[in-house]
Amino acid sequence: MDWVERTAQLRQWTRRGTRAPHKPLLFLYALSRFQQDADGELRYSAVEEDLRRLLAEYGPGNRTTPAYPFHHLVSDGVWEVRTERGPGSPGTGVGELRATGAAGRLTPELRAALRRDPSLLGRMTRVLLDLNFPPSLHGELCEAVGLELEEAETGQLSAARRRRDRRMREMVLTAYEYRCAFCGYDGSIGAVPVGLEAAHVRWWAFDGPDDVENGLCLCSLHHKLFDKGVLGLGEGHRILVSQSFVGRSTAARDHVIALAGRPVIGPQPGTRPVAADHRSWHTGQVFHGSPRPTTTA
Ligand SMILES: [Zn+2]
Repeated sequence: MDWVERTAQLRQWTRRGTRAPHKPLLFLYALSRFQQDADGELRYSAVEEDLRRLLAEYGPGNRTTPAYPFHHLVSDGVWEVRTERGPGSPGTGVGELRATGAAGRLTPELRAALRRDPSLLGRMTRVLLDLNFPPSLHGELCEAVGLELEEAETGQLSAARRRRDRRMREMVLTAYEYRCAFCGYDGSIGAVPVGLEAAHVRWWAFDGPDDVENGLCLCSLHHKLFDKGVLGLGEGHRILVSQSFVGRSTAARDHVIALAGRPVIGPQPGTRPVAADHRSWHTGQVFHGSPRPTTTA
C-alpha cells in the first residue's frame, strides 16, 4: 500500500476545479491527533466544533457539515468509524452520529504504517497541503489543526519536544478583540475572522512561549512586516518603523510609515500586554537597524 499515493488521490473527488477540501481537512486533523495520541479515538460530538470551524475557515463558501467527511472518508481506506453498536459508520446524519457515540480514527493498517516509518506522517501532510491549499496557508493550517510539520518531517516524535499550544491563536485574537494591534483592521467573513493572525513576538523557534504576553494580533501585512523586522515594538508599546523601509506610494505611507510612534491597539483590559523581555528580544534580533522618528501629523 502506498499511503502517499492514496493521500494524493483524495483530491480526485474534486470535479473540474471545484474545491472539496472536506476530506483533506479531516485527514490533516486526524493526522495531528495521531501525532498526539496514536491510538486515541475522535468522538464525533467532541470534534464536531473543531471541524466545523476548519470547514468554515478553509472550506468553500457553501455551508457543509462536518458529518460529511466524517462518514465519507471511510471509503478512502484511511479512516474508520465505529459506534456504540459496533464497527461501521451510521451515515451522514448529524443526529445519528451524535446519538450513537460515533468515533473515528485512522485505520489500523495506516496506524501501523505510520509507526513503522516515522517520516510517513510528514510526507502525507505535505501532499495534503500541496495538492489542496496554496503555500501561504500551509503554516496557519498546521497551526489550526495542531500539527507539528517540522517534527513530522524529521520523523522525531519525541515526548521531550515542546508542543505548540493550539489555543494560542484564539487567546491572542480574543485579547486584541479581533483587531490588528497596529492598524485596527478587523475583517471577517460572517463570524470568521479573515486576514488576522496571531504573531509571536519572540519566535517560537527561539523559545518564545505560546502565551498572550508573547503574542500580537496582526493583519497579514503587518504580521509579515513584523516578522521581517520592518516593524517593531518600542518603549510604551509604541510601534517602531525601520529606517531601512522604503515605500513611496500612498499605500506604503498610510499602511507602514504613518505607524511610527503610534501606540499599539489593545489588548483589552484585564489581559496582559506584550512582556518587556519578549519585546526587547524582537528589537535586538529581528528589527532592522534604527527606527524612524515619530511622524508628527
Ligand atoms: Zn494591520
